[in-house]
Amino acid sequence: MKNMTKREYCFTGGNCPVCRSDDVDYIENTTNFLEQGRVCITCKAVWEEHYKISHYKLITDKDSSFHSNLQEYQRKEIYE
Ligand SMILES: [Zn+2]
Repeated sequence: MKNMTKREYCFTGGNCPVCRSDDVDYIENTTNFLEQGRVCITCKAVWEEHYKISHYKLITDKDSSFHSNLQEYQRKEIYE
């Protein structure tokens, strides 16, 4: 079986690019948040996933501080 193309890999959302299994895991100890080590439980293949920043969402506005907005944001995440 041929290895997956980039497009196929993105379409599956992270199945093993070698055997297509979805029984895959993350490898800890990655220091770059735009890369993540992955390992296939089925065939033991190891690879890296590389991420691109697609956009940002501003959660503060110019009249308030970062910390009060962050607390507000976290309260909403927890209680709503
Ligand atoms: Zn595999």
